Amino acid sequence: MRVPEKGCVLCEATWGDYWDEVEGQRMFFCCDICAVEFKNMIREVIARTGWESIDEIKIDGDYRGRDCIALKGDKRYGFFVRFDSKGQVQDLNDRPITGARVEPQKSKAV
Ligand SMILES: [Zn+2]
Repeated sequence: MRVPEKGCVLCEATWGDYWDEVEGQRMFFCCDICAVEFKNMIREVIARTGWESIDEIKIDGDYRGRDCIALKGDKRYGFFVRFDSKGQVQDLNDRPITGARVEPQKSKAV
């Protein structure tokens, strides 16, 4: 999976020093909560999409909720996710890509 070059995979904070393994890959997180949230989110996205893995997740937002786009090859899955205080997924709603605040690269004109 492609992850940001620096900073926490989930929230991009550059402080902290927490490493965890997600889908067999070592990733940097600022804290254990972000790691738990990210792992729960990955698990949920894989369950919903039926993908074997995810190439990349673009994340925008904060603790109140995050707009995300998961990428796998040329497939995209847009969703909005919120976590509870323990890092469990509270809501995960499908969201059309166009309605998401993070815009993927414009696809070719029709
Ligand atoms: Zn974080």
